[in-house]
Amino acid sequence: MYDAPARRAALAMVAAGASLSEVSRTTGIHRSTLRAWASTEATVALECFRCSSLHPTDGAAYAALLGYYLGDGCVSTFRRRTTFRVSCDASLPGIVEDVSGLVGRVRPGGGVFRVRAPGVVVVSSNWKHWPCLFPQHGPGRKHDRPIVLADWQRDVVTAHPADFLRGLFHSDGCRAHNWATRVVRGEKRRYEYPRWQFTNRSDDIRALCCWALDLVEVPWRRSGAWVVSVSRREAVARLDELIGPKT
Ligand SMILES: [Zn+2]
Repeated sequence: MYDAPARRAALAMVAAGASLSEVSRTTGIHRSTLRAWASTEATVALECFRCSSLHPTDGAAYAALLGYYLGDGCVSTFRRRTTFRVSCDASLPGIVEDVSGLVGRVRPGGGVFRVRAPGVVVVSSNWKHWPCLFPQHGPGRKHDRPIVLADWQRDVVTAHPADFLRGLFHSDGCRAHNWATRVVRGEKRRYEYPRWQFTNRSDDIRALCCWALDLVEVPWRRSGAWVVSVSRREAVARLDELIGPKT
C-alpha cells in the first residue's frame, strides 16, 4: 500500500509527461500499479484535492489564491464550462505573474490564460473542480451574500496566514504614504508615514482579513466603513516583510 502523498507525487510526474517506466524507476512503485492509478477515474478525483478528501498539496499556494479570489476573483459556469478568474491591475505585472503561478500550483497541469482588457489582465483557468476549491462561489456580488470559510479552508489559512494576506492585500489593498509635519526644536519637519489599507465592501471578507492579521500578530484598526488599516510603524514593517510590495 502506498500513502496518498506518494500516489499524488507519482501521478504528478505522469501528468508532467514522464513515462510510467521512468516514474516506476524513480519512485519504486510498480508499473502496473501506476497504470491502474493513471487510467482510472481516480486520476480525475486526485487532481482535485477536495474530491479526494485531502488537504491541498500546496497549502501556501492555495491560501494565497484564496486571498486573491476573495479580493478580485470569481468562479462562473457558462455552457457547461466552469472558469476561475482573477482580475489584476495591468500596471502590476508582478501580481499577474504571482496569480498565474498560483493557479498552476493549485491545479498542476492545467492551462492558465491571460485575457487583456483596458487597464486589466484577467488570469483564468477552466476546470469543473474550481467550485470544489472555492465553495464561496455563488450568484451576485460577494458583499451581497455571506462569505464563510469551510473548516478545511480555515485550517489552510491558519497554517499559511501570510500567503492569505498577500492575496488579500495585493488585490484589494494598497500601501499608501501619508505626510505630516511636526515642529522639532523650532524647526518644521516633514515626516512620511507609510501604511497598508485593505478596502472591501463585504463585512465578512474584512473580518477574515482582521482574523489573519491577528494570526500574524499585526495590529490593525478600522479606518472607514469598508477599510482596515495597518498604520503603526512596526506593524507596517512586519506586513511588508510578510507580503512584500505590490509590483
Ligand atoms: Zn472536485
